[in-house]
Amino acid sequence: MKLLKKNIEKSIEHANENKFFSKLNKIYNGIDRGECQGCTSCCMESVDTFYIEFLNIYKYLKGNYDYYKQLMPRVVKYYFFELVTKNKCPFLDRDGKCRIYEVRPLTCRLFGHLNKEEYEENYKSVLKENRRSNSYFKKNYEINIPKEIVNYKIEYCNEFKVSRKVKRYDRQSMIDNIFIIESSFFMNELISEEFLRTGLVSWFTYIYFDMEEAGSHRLKIMREYLKGAKSPSLENIMDRLVFEG
Ligand code: SF4
Ligand code: SF4
Repeated sequence: MKLLKKNIEKSIEHANENKFFSKLNKIYNGIDRGECQGCTSCCMESVDTFYIEFLNIYKYLKGNYDYYKQLMPRVVKYYFFELVTKNKCPFLDRDGKCRIYEVRPLTCRLFGHLNKEEYEENYKSVLKENRRSNSYFKKNYEINIPKEIVNYKIEYCNEFKVSRKVKRYDRQSMIDNIFIIESSFFMNELISEEFLRTGLVSWFTYIYFDMEEAGSHRLKIMREYLKGAKSPSLENIMDRLVFEG
């Protein structure tokens, strides 16, 4: 299953016709952006991203085509190495600025809005999911995901200051409202269920690779990296790949 460009374009048209981008922005505008030290410690993963959010980011990046082409190799590499080495989000630039700040996904916007207890609860579910993934890779492919990836924790941030935190009930209501938008794409067969709960980096990777093909390349790349901290297969792939939008 690949993310076909013609479907992305049709989806953007569908979103425009139904004012989905305005609805998404209205949800985003309900979140106080807060202030912090900008240490970037929280930008350490490919966050879960809804399809409408991916379309919003895609559209934004296509407005700066040179940057899009420059960014995509980093994004694709991040996807292939995600489970073997911990790196900062590829959308973060060298100066520690998010290059898609204006259109960043809901998960990034809500970081800092959870209280300590909710945050730890959330980490427990992430850890559980990571352990489940690790068992899956071990059992099916004899690959051990390094412990530092499985147990990785973005620490709770005490530096984030916000005048009004978005409470649990309101966060859920935002997710529900985005899900209503999301279901319209499924109902109109612009996207299929395989793409549910896709990470930001994976969305962009699936423009260039079929989901299964990407998964099988990833196994090879992970094995190579775990053996020698590099991957000749990935170098070959990157040499051949043409990053058009
Ligand atoms: S929210 Fe906290 S962890 Fe994230 S960049 Fe700001 S200070 Fe750093
Ligand atoms: S998209 Fe931006 S805000 Fe979100 S993790 Fe990446 S760099 Fe950080």
